[in-house]
Amino acid sequence: MSRLDILSLFEQHGILPTPQRIEVAEILLERPQHLSAEQIIERLKQADSRVSKATVYNTLKLFGERGLVRELMVDPERKFYDSTTGPHHHFYNVDNGELVDIPGDQVRFADLPALPDGTERESVEVLIRVRTSR
Ligand SMILES: [Zn+2]
Repeated sequence: MSRLDILSLFEQHGILPTPQRIEVAEILLERPQHLSAEQIIERLKQADSRVSKATVYNTLKLFGERGLVRELMVDPERKFYDSTTGPHHHFYNVDNGELVDIPGDQVRFADLPALPDGTERESVEVLIRVRTSR
């Protein structure tokens, strides 16, 4: 994704562009992927970046709040940031922590419970936990 595309996405999501935020977005939005904060910090380090860990955490929190990326709570130990924000589901491999996308239309629901009074459905997400076969 070009810097211009990133700046335009920032504008759409009401995010003020700073060099640090652009660096983090360049890594995360490079392709459809799921990265943890630690993985992003590691990639920044490899690129000799000076963005601090605290800035990475704050930036990811902001990106999540503004809907630029999706926060995935798959495991209390690991929060992932998903560059794909449209509706879709996931396989999560509990052995190696790998997340794989499932297109939204590949999961069908025969029946869903009635929603609590006064609410409307925002989204339904499925996480299928898998482990390596033994
Ligand atoms: Zn995903």
